[in-house]
This record gives sequence, C-alpha cells and structure tokens, in this order.
Amino acid sequence: MGSSLQQPVWVKGSAFPLKGEMKLNGVKLWSVKPCKASKLEGSLVTGRPPSVSVPIPEMAGAGNNFADYELGEADPEVRGIIDKEKEHQFRSLELIASENFTSRAVMEAVGSCLANKYSEGLPGKRYYGGNEYIDELETLCQERALAAFNLDGKQWGVNGLDLPHGGHLSHGFMTPKRRVSGTSIYFESMPYRLDESSGLVDYDMLEKTATLFRPKLIIAGASAYPRDFDYPRMRKIADAVGAFLMMDMAHISGLVAATVVANPFEYCDIVTTTTHKSLRGPRGGMIFFKKDPILGVDLESAINDAVFPGLQGGPHSHTIGGLAVCLKHAKSPDFKAFQNKVVSNCRALANRLMELGYKLVSGGTDNHLVLVDLRPLGLDGARVEKIPDMASITLNKNSVAGDKSALVPVVYA
Ligand SMILES: *Cc1c(COP(=O)(O)O)cnc(C)c1O
Repeated sequence: MGSSLQQPVWVKGSAFPLKGEMKLNGVKLWSVKPCKASKLEGSLVTGRPPSVSVPIPEMAGAGNNFADYELGEADPEVRGIIDKEKEHQFRSLELIASENFTSRAVMEAVGSCLANKYSEGLPGKRYYGGNEYIDELETLCQERALAAFNLDGKQWGVNGLDLPHGGHLSHGFMTPKRRVSGTSIYFESMPYRLDESSGLVDYDMLEKTATLFRPKLIIAGASAYPRDFDYPRMRKIADAVGAFLMMDMAHISGLVAATVVANPFEYCDIVTTTTHKSLRGPRGGMIFFKKDPILGVDLESAINDAVFPGLQGGPHSHTIGGLAVCLKHAKSPDFKAFQNKVVSNCRALANRLMELGYKLVSGGTDNHLVLVDLRPLGLDGARVEKIPDMASITLNKNSVAGDKSALVPVVYA
C-alpha cells in the first residue's frame, strides 16, 4: 500500500528539445526536426557524434521518411490508452499489496535509450560489444543493491508456501489432478502450511514434514502472509535436514531495506526479490547469494549460470537503470520514513477493520498487508472485490487457509 503517490505531473509535450537545435556551451550539436533515420544511422555507423555525421545519400522510396515523433503524434491510440490508465491510477485508491507507484526518476530511466542494448553475460564478460556504459550501470546497480540491504560485498553477491496458504505459484503449486506452475512440473515440491487456528506458519509441522521429505531447499516467503517469518527456527530446520534456506522476500523487500521487519540475510543462503512491490522500483527481480560455498555448492556460479545462459536471454538494461535509481532511494532516510508509515498505516487499517467486527487472518499484521477472512460473512473474495472496485478502491482477493479453491477464494487482501 503506497502512501505517497508520487506520480509525475502531467507534462504537455516533451522535456527533450525535439524540434529545433540543441546547443552545448554555445556549440550547435545537432538539429533535430523530427530526425530522419538516415541521418541518425550515419552518425551511428561512423561512431562519431551526430554533429559531425557524414551525410548519407537519401534512399529513394517510401521507407526513407522514418521520422521519430513523440508518442502522442506517432500513435495517438496508444497515447490515449496510457492517459486513461494514468487517470485511473490517479483517481483510484490502490490497496493491492503487491503493487506500488514507482518514482518519476525510475520511469525516466526505464523509458531511456538503455532499452536499445544487447548485453548478455556479466559486466566485463559480454557477448556483444559496446557495453562500456552498460557495464558501469550494472556494476553500480549491484553495489547499490548490496548497500540497500546493508550487505558486505565479500560475503554476498547479487545477480514456498502452498498457494492457498499465502504462498506463491512459483514455489510449486499443484492441485490433486494437475501440476499448475512450471516449478511444480520441473521440481518436486512439498508445501508447508499455516496453522488454521492461529493463521501463523505451522513450524512444528514444517519440521516434521521436512524430516520425512528431506528437501534440498526450504523456501520462506509469501504473497499473502501478514506476519513476519521466524528465520532462526527455519534455519534450524534447514540445518537439521541439510537443506539450503532461501527467502523469497518479494512482497516485503522494501520493508527489509528500511529495517522495519526482520532481516532474512542473517539466516538465509539465498534471498530473492521482485523489485516492483514494496521496494518501489521497476518490474524486475534480484537474486542475492552467499559467496562462500554452502553445502559444497558454489552458489555464485550456479545462480549466475542458471540465469544466463540457463533461463534468460538479453537482460533489460533499462530496467537495471531504473533499479539502480530505486536502490539509491531505498538507502535514504526518506525511504525509511515512508516504509515506517506503510507499516503503521496498515496496522491502523487492521485495527479499525477488527473494531468493525471483521475477522483478519492471524488476527492482525506485522507488515504491509491485511487479509480479511470473509467466510464468517458467508461471502467470497471474487464477488466482494467488485464492490470497492465500483468505488474506485482497488484490492485483490486471495485464498485463505482452508479454502477449497485458489481461483475462487473466500478471502480478501
Ligand atoms: C510477486 C512474487 C513473485 C514474483 O511474481 P511475478 O508475478 O513474477 O512478479 C515471487 N514470489 C513471491 C513470494 C511474490 O510475492
């Protein structure tokens, strides 16, 4: 739940001097009247700045009139849809726990020329040339990622629950008849659950089942769990069965960075996160790993190789740019104050809902989300979701421990 709505103000036209000349220290750099691609290519081909580009003979035919207009001119239809979406985001109260409003600065980086580069590999070890600045950017982003979570670069590097119990699909979700998520097709997963009376993770049951199942990996972290995790307890269980301990802190990474919830890095071997939830960055993800071998495995190379070439193609350098900006912000006192407010607002909301007689899963919240159990009211989340939506309040349904279906759940986040 974002409490400060830092959307860019409406700006008519572009900040970039599209029409006319651009001057630097009185020197005319180049004249951009919507620029012709042939002129631009000329400068890119020679590798010299556009001011000294050699004129390339104009090609004949219809294709040479390729002008670079701003979006409103080039495509009013898409511009119009974006404007409607922006209006909607301004007008409505956004209470979806996994969403946030990223900053204008992040959006500028994401909408920049960084989007043009191919840069498979790692800084200094790329498959394509011309990555000098992309390397600089990614290195800066990595340094900031470690700094945002107060990690020592010598120890850390950077490159589940059952769904109806607040977990995430990616931790391996299956129904009795069907393996739903890709991870449940490729991996054998064993969910652990909440104690349905307390709404808290049933650590005793986790310990028992882990002893029987002997997992290689135990995953902490969830998408719909309003409480903090007992990392020391999970570490103990992982050690007893010889498993790695991983925290998927996607929902709460902003709260972790601001140190308003417990710190998973103290106990886990691997920590993953999305970057667009409470961290308030661009859509993306990060994987943190311990640098020293764990259980005889070099996590650094295992994870880096799995990302590329194992799973991913070209990285999104524009997203890395936006992420670097977000991580700088995450280190500021501003950000800490913001996250403190997120948690105290959420607590106030939880208390008021309980005063009004609603039943909350786990009876409250430690973080940025509340889960209302609608079953005592004889209602389901799928239907109730529509009513606040009509009042421009956006929230999302979620299943709750005991639900029969994860797709038509009876609870509300
Ligand atoms: C959001 C989330 C993810 C990533 O989900 P995407 O749909 O890929 O953004 C992974 N794990 C958890 C626990 C999450 O909450």
